Amino acid sequence: MNQIVVVGAGQAAIWAAKTLRSEGYEGNITIVGDENDAFYERPPLSKQVLLGEVDHESLKIFKDEIVAELNIELLKPVKVTNIDRQNKTVYTNTDQTIAYDKLLIATGSKAKIPVKEWSSYDNVVSLRNIEDSLRIEEKINKVDKIGIIGGGWIGLEVAASLSKRNIEVTVYEMNDRLCARSVTQEVSDYLLKLHEQHGVHIRLSCKHLDLNQSDVNQSINVQVDNDVNNIVTYDLVFLGTGAHINKEIAELSGLETSDGIIVDEYCQTSDPDIYAAGDVAIHPNLGFCIQSWSNAQHQGVVAAQSMLDQKVAYEETPWLWSDQYDKNIQILGSPADIDNCQLVIRAGESNDDCFFYLDREKKLRYLVAVNNNKIVKMAKRWIKAEWPIDPEVLKDQSFNLMKIKPK
Ligand SMILES: Cc1cc2nc3c(=O)[nH]c(=O)nc-3n(C[C@H](O)[C@H](O)[C@H](O)COP(=O)(O)OP(=O)(O)OC[C@H]3O[C@@H](n4cnc5c(N)ncnc54)[C@H](O)[C@@H]3O)c2cc1C
Repeated sequence: MNQIVVVGAGQAAIWAAKTLRSEGYEGNITIVGDENDAFYERPPLSKQVLLGEVDHESLKIFKDEIVAELNIELLKPVKVTNIDRQNKTVYTNTDQTIAYDKLLIATGSKAKIPVKEWSSYDNVVSLRNIEDSLRIEEKINKVDKIGIIGGGWIGLEVAASLSKRNIEVTVYEMNDRLCARSVTQEVSDYLLKLHEQHGVHIRLSCKHLDLNQSDVNQSINVQVDNDVNNIVTYDLVFLGTGAHINKEIAELSGLETSDGIIVDEYCQTSDPDIYAAGDVAIHPNLGFCIQSWSNAQHQGVVAAQSMLDQKVAYEETPWLWSDQYDKNIQILGSPADIDNCQLVIRAGESNDDCFFYLDREKKLRYLVAVNNNKIVKMAKRWIKAEWPIDPEVLKDQSFNLMKIKPK
């Protein structure tokens, strides 16, 4: 094997390339990315960058010297348009044909735009990459009032960052609670309170929304439920309306897909020479795409190991974080199957609460922890070891959780 090709130049891609080299692979690595930029951290875009605390230059996942040592052939901005699996080649929009022995699809996701026309409005923005971030930066100083469509993680982070910049923020969510896909009712209630305390207006159950551009300053009118008395005008509208998984090249080439690309625990697709990692890959046990920083990193590593015939299964517990105001919110596990779980809340100072969900055997299945990295670290061990945990000790703020031991 002498030619590994990676499609996408994001987080999963660079971790795969780094692992290939650290595991001794000396052949060619070609990475094809369709952005002008490559290998940078996206999470700060909605946090520190939007707050003006860091610039785009500081987002590099690895220093330039480290990337140079990996000896990657990086083609950018170049888009892979199709995969010819029979001849083991990929085609690009620049008319290149690149042969591969093994191929990794790490194409991530992009901002979902619910109505195509909205993206043509000058003052409607979304945020997935540096280009989007530059567009927002260019406009934001002239904004007094913003409407955010979507009360998911990105919408809420943008709400927190912009309200800190003294912009009046209203969030419109179609569900009857915030972050409904990824957290429980109790955590949604917590988030609602947090944002309202910071003066953000939250409007839930906005089932039908319309946007149109007014003639005055190209400001944007947001209309709820076709009600002419329910129209508010904003300087800028931010779309935090979910992600579109970039699985098109996999579909076109006949790989097995559903909401994303189907892979096994070794990140291998239905074609043994093609792997997928990161946002685009469906988690083998959970059955959906986990769109998180740590998932992209770990799957990138596992995919690289698999390409080198080292079978190391991907077994990480899903973990993601979000920063809103002074709260670092960490989520461990998935809320997908916690129906019969018992909720135990460990209250913290300044509303820094932890929400533990224990199954019938008192094993921790899911945790949301606010400003408590220590507990998250311990909980990762509890989940891995499947320790039963006494709910009473979790509740008891005077009990040192470090003392929890296997029964
Ligand atoms: C604003 C923002 C904030 C976030 N905050 C957090 C957070 O706080 N915590 C957390 O856990 N996660 C967060 N995430 C999610 C995290 O950044 C992603 O899960 C992670 O970047 C996914 O990595 P990836 O390698 O799968 O995809 P990406 O990093 O998206 O890289 C994929 C790359 O492939 C390119 N591409 C797509 N199709 C093609 C093609 N056909 N040819 C060539 N190139 C292609 C894409 O343009 C992109 O550059 C955030 C994401 C965003 C956008």
